[in-house]
Amino acid sequence: MKLYEYQGKELFSQYGIPVPKSVVVEKEKELDRVQISFPWVMKAQVLVGGRKKAGGVKFVNNYDEALKAFHELKGMDIKGYKIEKIMVEESLEIKEEYYISIILDRSRRSHLLMFSKEGGVDIEGVADEKIVKVSINPLIGLQNFHLRNIRNNEIATVAKKMYALFTSKDCELVEINPLVLANDTIIAADAKILIDDGALYRHQELPKVEEDFTELEREAREKGIAFVQLGGNIGVIANGAGLTMATLDALNEYGGKGGVFLDLGGTDDPEKVTQAFRLMKKARPQVILLNLFGGITKCDTVAKGVKAVLDEEGIECPVIARIKGMNEEEAMNILKESLTPMSSFHEAAKKASELGGV
Ligand code: GDP
Ligand code: MN
Repeated sequence: MKLYEYQGKELFSQYGIPVPKSVVVEKEKELDRVQISFPWVMKAQVLVGGRKKAGGVKFVNNYDEALKAFHELKGMDIKGYKIEKIMVEESLEIKEEYYISIILDRSRRSHLLMFSKEGGVDIEGVADEKIVKVSINPLIGLQNFHLRNIRNNEIATVAKKMYALFTSKDCELVEINPLVLANDTIIAADAKILIDDGALYRHQELPKVEEDFTELEREAREKGIAFVQLGGNIGVIANGAGLTMATLDALNEYGGKGGVFLDLGGTDDPEKVTQAFRLMKKARPQVILLNLFGGITKCDTVAKGVKAVLDEEGIECPVIARIKGMNEEEAMNILKESLTPMSSFHEAAKKASELGGV
């Protein structure tokens, strides 16, 4: 389970890790009651990183600017996630930004502490030699000698407190990026915490965070459709989790990036397919790859469901189709005018990748 930044910072406070003064607001009128002096940082509370790049972190100097930022944030979404809560935080005068994290390192069966003086950026982009990595035997726990390479006492203290939090709350990750030096003290400007789902039953004290679904994923769940949004621009429709995954793999091979995947599973109801296809359209992929292997899900059932949507509302993007198995001829007859048929799986994946802009 992921925690929101504001929930993570509450835990930090409980464990003695310094955090900036902040409050969480949901409604405009709550801004009046904020007792923090300007300037503020206003941060979208969503369960994805890179908010600043996405415009989800705003710096404001007075109430009018805050009001404007509030409405901008409320009106936008970040990577498909709607913004409900906004954290209003005292702005810090940042001198330095560090990265610090503790993760559960399953491959080494240990905890891993990572620290870098080059924080505030995506840690994947930081050169390896600029990251201090210390493996911690969980039976021994964090000891002073582990912190020898962190030459700053205050940061070492933060690391110890993070470790206490990490172990007592059964975390998979506790990350502060950036941990900052501001007004001559060390303070956590961000918070990312992942709790091991298998241990949640031991932590009734923790807030319950709903799984982080996008709006479309939520809608799909209500309709009982297996629908996942990813980072790319190719919409994949297949039947069965195995074929769906194999299709994504094949796209990868040709440089294509799956944007949505929709697993029709085993259905023989054209109406269900219609609903699923409508959702796919709403996700606005650049190209759709329909990859069917008919069995329990008959090819013509899917074709009827797709055709119903095409007749009713048309489609803006190309649809590449590879249709094999039970009733494939009927299916192709129904759809032949509306899409580009491909005879092989890989040909289809290649074509879709090309149309996806690679
Ligand atoms: P993220 O983009 O989702 O990781 O959000 P962060 O909370 O890490 O904020 C992104 C960046 O905004 C940080 O790396 C800082 O550079 C900057 N930032 C955050 N809080 C403050 C603040 O109080 N003052 C200043 N000057 N910059 C801040
Ligand atoms: Mn951050």
